[in-house]
Amino acid sequence: MNYDVVIIGSGVAGLQAAIHAARKKVKVAVIGKIEASALSKAHIENYLGIETSDGSKLLETGAKQARHYGAELFPEEVISVEMSEGGFIVKTDGMKDLACKALIIASGISRNKLNVEGEKEFYGLGVSYCANCDCHFFKKKKVAIVGNGSNAAVAALLLKDYADKVYWVAKAVTASKELMEMVEVSSIEIISPAWPAKIVGENVVKGIVLKDGKVIDVDGVFIELGAKGAADLAIELGIIADESGSIKVDRECRTETEGVFACGDITGQPWQMAKAVGEGCVAGLNAASFARKEVE
Ligand SMILES: Cc1cc2nc3c(=O)[nH]c(=O)nc-3n(C[C@H](O)[C@H](O)[C@H](O)COP(=O)(O)OP(=O)(O)OC[C@H]3O[C@@H](n4cnc5c(N)ncnc54)[C@H](O)[C@@H]3O)c2cc1C
Repeated sequence: MNYDVVIIGSGVAGLQAAIHAARKKVKVAVIGKIEASALSKAHIENYLGIETSDGSKLLETGAKQARHYGAELFPEEVISVEMSEGGFIVKTDGMKDLACKALIIASGISRNKLNVEGEKEFYGLGVSYCANCDCHFFKKKKVAIVGNGSNAAVAALLLKDYADKVYWVAKAVTASKELMEMVEVSSIEIISPAWPAKIVGENVVKGIVLKDGKVIDVDGVFIELGAKGAADLAIELGIIADESGSIKVDRECRTETEGVFACGDITGQPWQMAKAVGEGCVAGLNAASFARKEVE
């Protein structure tokens, strides 16, 4: 099967890239399961023009739009990618071999888990992996941020403007000096060295139990332990992800390998729909131009 552009990932960035590429009248395939997008579990309230919407509805509409402009969607997993003469070969677990001239990596990220009792059970019921997305649900409440580094510090500094009380639980605080200066003059209470043994509650989060047995009563637990990207596929193309698992791109969403573009969460923070949409647009347009040899 031959395509001009193949997109790995059918989340926000991949679908937006598909819409923009397909409207340039190139042949586009999108591989990925829509329901596996991070957005499918999100409730969006911070995207321009949308007061409130379930992410799954936005994805369904996005997939419909991409198909409407001619993109073909395959709900499969990409298992390998290799370079070939004039482009790339993408292999899927559905036994498809797709040849393409340009490739877009829009495979998102998977947030690192704490792996303690209660984390899964209370996900969306007080447990969150995204301070930017969920801060306003915790107005005048008590929250704990779990993590050691700058991500955790940024989340704590944001949450202190919403919540009545912010605890920051860390094994050892490793955030930057600048962030620590802000934390130190704030009302954030650092509990360190410490680590949660479990998250407890009744229908919703009520607290965390630390490894030393101490209980902290909170309504929310923000887990800020960074994320993993689908960097293995990128490595097959000679693209090395940085230590946080992000793929470096330029303003045109080009990676360091010619003909390979990347967009969305996989290119780094902020992990937000608005960024994924913007980058998806840029990557889609530029991959289509590359495939049509509109670029030098
Ligand atoms: C609980 C939650 C709440 C959120 N709330 C908000 C919010 O309020 N506002 C906001 O702006 N953002 C929010 N976000 C973040 C937002 O969902 C992401 O920024 C956005 O979905 C990123 O888009 P993406 O396309 O990069 O990745 P995703 O949407 O995650 O899509 C990645 C796609 O790649 C696919 N994929 C991965 N590997 C492969 C492979 N090997 N083969 C085929 N397909 C593959 C996946 O299946 C998935 O379909 C939230 C996220 C979560 C988890």
